[in-house]
Amino acid sequence: MSFLVMKFGGTSVANVERIRNVARHVKREIEAGNRVAVVVSAMAGVTNQLVAWVREASPLHDAREYDAIVATGEQVTAGLLAIVLQGMGITARSWQGWQIPILTDNAHGVARIKDVPGDKIRARLEQGEVAVITGFQGIEPERSRISTLGRGGSDTSAVAIAVAVKADLCDIYTDVDGVYTTDPRIVPRARRLPKVSYEEMLEMASLGSKVLQTRSVELAMVHRMRLRVLSSFAAPEAMQPARPETWDQIGTIICSEDEIVEQRIVSGIAYAKDEARVSLIRVEDRPGVAARIFGPLADTNINVDMIVQNTSSDGKHTDMTFTVQESDLERALDVLKVAKKDIGYFDVKSSSDVAKVSVIGVGMRSHAGVAAQMFKALAERGINILAITTSEIKISVLIDAAYAELAVRTLHALYGLDKD
Ligand code: ADP
Ligand code: ASP
Ligand code: MG
Repeated sequence: MSFLVMKFGGTSVANVERIRNVARHVKREIEAGNRVAVVVSAMAGVTNQLVAWVREASPLHDAREYDAIVATGEQVTAGLLAIVLQGMGITARSWQGWQIPILTDNAHGVARIKDVPGDKIRARLEQGEVAVITGFQGIEPERSRISTLGRGGSDTSAVAIAVAVKADLCDIYTDVDGVYTTDPRIVPRARRLPKVSYEEMLEMASLGSKVLQTRSVELAMVHRMRLRVLSSFAAPEAMQPARPETWDQIGTIICSEDEIVEQRIVSGIAYAKDEARVSLIRVEDRPGVAARIFGPLADTNINVDMIVQNTSSDGKHTDMTFTVQESDLERALDVLKVAKKDIGYFDVKSSSDVAKVSVIGVGMRSHAGVAAQMFKALAERGINILAITTSEIKISVLIDAAYAELAVRTLHALYGLDKD
């Protein structure tokens, strides 16, 4: 017998018919003797609608009320799935974040999970009851307010529950049958990866592959929780119930690097179109100027990603370019305007028509030349690079958004990732 968490995303629970299909996946596991906690997202499109209503009510709003509103989507799905399961003769009940409780900090809208006491749920699972848990939401205990974990946060709820109930496996069911070398909707020749290391998955997620929320991978990595990504659209009864001997026969397993035998230099390509570029023109070239630019941005909770500082041709002035999340651009420009006198720059230019394309692979640690190959291939396609950042296992370039898909396809072929 295994303890499982099964998480189903928005498209997998988009209507009652699909919720019935989800219930059949759960039934398969229960009939095989497994113990199951299910984590569900809101029905497809519901969270977007809720967010749109909040913004319509007021563009500037109380983040606690935002959470009270957007958390409702998951509550509906959890209740519906519990009803459908009961109709199939399976003992089940729904749980909201506060009932478990999933305790978070007070960063409403992007809250972090602090603790999840798992004993209560574990005891119910041991008795054979299915726990249907709302993803995405928790409770901030100091003020007893509902909190949400950021878009895509149900993945993180699933991993946190899996850790709390000491599950053997955390299955993330979605609308693709695993993690691919790149988004299969952009590159039809993308290949499914049977196994991906935590480190690579963390980079892929944070660099734009939204198949898993970044924090869910972080949490799984810290607790060494085995994650599997698989399709909810496969016929439920045709799938083998989860057993340790056959876990790795379907989907993608996210696991430790040393469990992966296949040698590859680049494992995947990610892209993100939600960055914006800011250039400060003719900044004075003197000690402390970077601190005067990035200090106020940090104080306003604006994350800066790539930074490029040009060398100064006259020894007095330089240009400084950096990127922020597109949603933070307006705020960043405001902050820079306020700090203009203190920083001392001539002009500020910005653009959100940029994309970040990244190649990721643990094999880069021991292989030179990956970056050079990348730059050459992009140049041959006439793609200009605006900024570059690297780490041990990834290289990211900022390019014109219009070329994002061409760049992804070019790099996918370059590193031999295309399926035959
Ligand atoms: P869910 O609603 O189940 O949480 P998401 O839409 O959040 O699903 O994530 C699944 C989507 O992630 C897929 O439909 C796919 O387009 C996208 N995706 C991006 N990069 C990848 C990748 N490398 N492998 C698989 N899917 C990816
Ligand atoms: N419903 C939330 C969202 O759309 C959380 C999730 O689906 O993971 O972002
Ligand atoms: Mg998701």
